[in-house]
Amino acid sequence: MKIKKSREMNNWLDDFKLNHPFVIAGPCSAETKEQVLNTAHQLKELGINIYRAGVWKPRTRPNLFEGVGSKSLEWLKQVKKETGMLIAVEVANKQHVYEALKSDIDILWIGARTSANPFSVQEIADSLKGIDIPILVKNPINPDLELWIGAIERIQQSGITRIAAIHRGFSSYGTTKFRNIPQWQIPIELKRRIPQLPIICDPSHIGGTRELITTISQKAMDLDMDGLMIEAHCNPLEAWSDVNQQITPKHLKKILKELVRRKIKPDNVSLSDLEDLRHRIDKHDKELLTILADRMSCVIEIGNYKKKNQMTILQTNRWNEILQSRFIKGRSLDLSDEFVKSIFKSIHQESINKQELILNS
Ligand code: PEP
Ligand code: MN
Repeated sequence: MKIKKSREMNNWLDDFKLNHPFVIAGPCSAETKEQVLNTAHQLKELGINIYRAGVWKPRTRPNLFEGVGSKSLEWLKQVKKETGMLIAVEVANKQHVYEALKSDIDILWIGARTSANPFSVQEIADSLKGIDIPILVKNPINPDLELWIGAIERIQQSGITRIAAIHRGFSSYGTTKFRNIPQWQIPIELKRRIPQLPIICDPSHIGGTRELITTISQKAMDLDMDGLMIEAHCNPLEAWSDVNQQITPKHLKKILKELVRRKIKPDNVSLSDLEDLRHRIDKHDKELLTILADRMSCVIEIGNYKKKNQMTILQTNRWNEILQSRFIKGRSLDLSDEFVKSIFKSIHQESINKQELILNS
């Protein structure tokens, strides 16, 4: 892991955390001067200090609105002058970086489609050499943690010290409740791998609808994420992009007010009850592992039997029986089918791996 454990990287968001939690808000796209300024003034009144707006928009299909481009940088400059807010925009190539820096933009972010392309990320990283600006790196559209970390490393190797990740969910085929599936285990693993890297959640692009923003934001706070990036628009129903997910500044105010901020360790709370429960969990986990090892020794014996009798490893009927009967038992113990399935799939896969070694030895 090449990511620096530098002090600068740690909690640089605190410098900007004029209010709690760290929030970046603003429209998906800068559309008109009036929309940009009107939205900004309303957000400033709520105490939002960082304004986002897409200048160049990466769209899935051609012939859609692709952002008004560089001319909106002038409007953003005016927002900065009139409100004192910091301005964040998305950059996807070195020309964007050049234009954004020329217009005194304060924070740059790399979008999900760009993070997925190492050539583009490297081009951006190279164009940032010697420049001290915060960079936010969205997760790539595909659920690939290594690619996300790789993009962060490329930016870091260009000398940038203030880096944060943005979790905006991952694309999938077919319709789901989310526009981009959160796959929370990926940002959780990112946090475990690089604990000093701040992570901001983007509930707007995860949810894709206004209704989901509150629950996703609360979940992000409960997973100890460091901030939120939320799309807000003075007239969301008329937005030129992402019309279903943008909210009014007033709606944003309500959401932020209702967010419950919990702490890893609140002051004045004794952790002894929690520690007791954790001891119990440690004990159960040891038992689970012992039982799994015991189960695995049966699997190995079965492997030897299959080898001797020239039997296939996979016995589909048996595997089906196992799953169905474990579901029934699981339900009686209040364990969901989804959970039981994921555990047994992984046990089954490991059993196959072990038996493959035996059969091919
Ligand atoms: C955006 O923030 O408006 C955007 C295009 O996001 P993403 O790169 O996450 O799709
Ligand atoms: Mn958007």
